[in-house]
Amino acid sequence: MADPKTLCVYCGSRTGEGDDHETLAQELGDFMAKEGVGLVFGGGGIGLMGVIARKIMASGGRVIGVIPEHLDRVEIGFRGGTELHVVKSMHERKKLMFDLCDAIVVLPGGLGTLDELFEIITWSQLELHDKPVIIVNHAGYWDPLISLIDHVIDQGFAAPECRDLFTVVSSAAEVIPTIRAHKPPVRPSDSEIF
Ligand code: AMP
Repeated sequence: MADPKTLCVYCGSRTGEGDDHETLAQELGDFMAKEGVGLVFGGGGIGLMGVIARKIMASGGRVIGVIPEHLDRVEIGFRGGTELHVVKSMHERKKLMFDLCDAIVVLPGGLGTLDELFEIITWSQLELHDKPVIIVNHAGYWDPLISLIDHVIDQGFAAPECRDLFTVVSSAAEVIPTIRAHKPPVRPSDSEIF
């Protein structure tokens, strides 16, 4: 695809064990700011969300947060960004985050991140979009997830082509070049999906 202007990053509202995940979020933030690629994210100032947002702002980049009003207080809405959209519901949040971005990147995260990832790849499976979805599997964090998806395919509950609905990379440096090289996935026919 052409140069992405914005990336939606799904990631944890916690920082996880060790320092590795924070370093990864900072590295991605650094690449995005240097390449002039804006961040669209869940608008929280905590966890990896806050780490990447602060890094991008400190590096002179653009940060667009989208947070539902009921989480604005709990997730301590990040007000140091370029824009913060406060929306009514989680559904509105996820739709607006999707509409505002050219591609989606998944960093380590928890159940909310998994929900967001599965929604975006199932929307792609149903041909509602063909935006690139990049999973950053740094230090094998997402290995069990990838094994689970392979298992689902092996057991006949998803078409083998579903493996192409996302691309797995292992470092922040690969994210933007992988998006630039992205070609829309080969679509399974409806009879293979259902
Ligand atoms: P987590 O990965 O659980 O730390 O959450 C990361 C982000 O996903 C946070 O901004 C959460 O608000 C959001 N989130 C948490 N639960 C859900 C959910 N059920 N659906 C969509 N987003 C969620």
